[in-house]
Amino acid sequence: MNIIEPHIHMYSRTTDDYQAMYAAGIRVAVEPSFWLGSDRHYAGTFFDYFRLILEFETVRARRFGIDHYCAVSYNPKEAENRKLVDEVLAGMGEYLDHERCIAVGEIGFNNITDNEEYAFRRQLEIAMSKDMQVIVHLPHLNKPEGIRRSLKVIREVGFPENRIYLDHNTEDTMAQARQCDCYLGLTVYPYSKLTPRRVSAIVRQYGAEKLIVSGSADWGVSDPLALVKVIDFLKGDGHDEATIQKLVRATADEFYRHSPRWKPDFDLTPVDVSTFQR
Ligand SMILES: [Zn+2]
Repeated sequence: MNIIEPHIHMYSRTTDDYQAMYAAGIRVAVEPSFWLGSDRHYAGTFFDYFRLILEFETVRARRFGIDHYCAVSYNPKEAENRKLVDEVLAGMGEYLDHERCIAVGEIGFNNITDNEEYAFRRQLEIAMSKDMQVIVHLPHLNKPEGIRRSLKVIREVGFPENRIYLDHNTEDTMAQARQCDCYLGLTVYPYSKLTPRRVSAIVRQYGAEKLIVSGSADWGVSDPLALVKVIDFLKGDGHDEATIQKLVRATADEFYRHSPRWKPDFDLTPVDVSTFQR
């Protein structure tokens, strides 16, 4: 099965991960910008990072047979520094216009503060002015309040819900999430967030429509093959092939297709490692 990994931070992963992903059938990956492990102090550090994921990481992934796209944003975890938010947003346009950038993201709330709301709101406005879609990150603590306030901001800005991929849903948010028109993400992690078993139960309760599963795989204990494990578990748990296809490929494809730059290539051939090793 050709899989789209719609939300993964390859910046924090190794070449072994790329090889394992290709071997397991992952052919396309989307890398949203994120927190680098310590807070940044300069707008230039953001810009260098945006260029790195848009250019170097895309080339690196391609060598391993994976077509790699990006989403660019100022992440919620660093949003308390409003001066830096303003500086970065003032210079972010050229990265959002890059040929490998297909969305604004991830944006949203972390600790659910007013400063985070400021960065979130401004970036929704930027995305709207550029007719781009958006990846929204729901906070990991106080999720019901996080989704309530996220949807409030989205509605106040008037951003079309159908162009939002609202990620990191759990059993605590799904009832509220099903009241909106966003695409809904489920992130699978080995020790926190969701397990394949919980994904299976959510799909059974709420249906597979507009649901997108990702592995996210970042600095924490995470798994770049999470989607493969979800596929195996769901098959064993009685879900049909069409449902599984939607969750790990078709719906992500449908969401990202709003971007004219999204042209996923499922047929890249990995390069012989001896030709690029140094
Ligand atoms: Zn993420």
